[in-house]
Amino acid sequence: MRLVLVGPPGAGKGTQAEFIADRFTIPKISTGDIFRANVSGGTELGKLAKQYMDAGDLVPDKVTIAMVRDRLGEPDAAAGFLLDGFPRNVAQAYELDSILGDLGTSLDVVLELQVDNEEVVRRLSGRRTCRKCGHIWHVEYDSTQADGVCDKCGGELYQRDDDQAETVRHRLDVYAEQTSPLIEFYTNRSQLVVVDAIGTVEDVTERAIRVLT
Ligand code: ADP
Ligand code: ADP
Ligand code: ADP
Repeated sequence: MRLVLVGPPGAGKGTQAEFIADRFTIPKISTGDIFRANVSGGTELGKLAKQYMDAGDLVPDKVTIAMVRDRLGEPDAAAGFLLDGFPRNVAQAYELDSILGDLGTSLDVVLELQVDNEEVVRRLSGRRTCRKCGHIWHVEYDSTQADGVCDKCGGELYQRDDDQAETVRHRLDVYAEQTSPLIEFYTNRSQLVVVDAIGTVEDVTERAIRVLT
């Protein structure tokens, strides 16, 4: 399966991506994760991306697209993949077509996770990420994480710089202006399926798997 997840920051894309990718035995490719790995690794790509990420803006298309082209060309993506966080605008969507066309394939489905703004703000303000294994937690919804330790691996939990209230507001504007037009784009191509992403993580996973199988 070749799948894209779309939805506002905080919708639960990263959380669901883990479960959905497992279920279909496909690699999860998260552009946000790749950028963050490059920032903490101090690569040239990381240095460039950091300023945009800190501001809550999109990293320029040219760099992002080159990165995704490389990643989709890797052998483990040949039999399918789940993209989390890409495409993020219509130009990237056209580029994805072109990348997949060059690889002799195409996209199967785009899954939209739908949540209201109030819930998005609640989810982002409590989001904690494990430095070691990358698992995503929430301080209220996963109350056992209040001690700042990852239940899966014992790693340290941290709050992303771009989850500060002011940056969150800007990222939501960026989503509304640049990313949400993808909904109409993929609806017009009859590739969009929508899932109500309010409810427990397990409920949302179940709904997602149901519409995908
Ligand atoms: P969230 O999960 O909250 O939506 P991500 O982890 O997907 O956030 O992305 C974090 C940041 O990484 C974005 O705000 C942006 O700066 C950058 N980024 C991620 N994916 C893309 C992309 N496809 N195009 C441009 N920038 C991106
Ligand atoms: P560059 O070629 O720009 O130096 P690399 O490919 O060497 O970037 O990757 C730098 C960092 O990004 C490494 O820590 C690597 O683990 C991480 N990384 C690269 N690709 C991925 C990916 N698809 N998923 C997760 N992390 C990745
Ligand atoms: P995205 O990748 O779309 O930005 P995340 O998967 O990082 O979203 O989720 C944002 C925050 O919301 C995290 O703290 C996560 O633990 C939490 N979360 C995700 N799904 C749910 C859910 N169904 N109910 C409550 N909290 C959730």
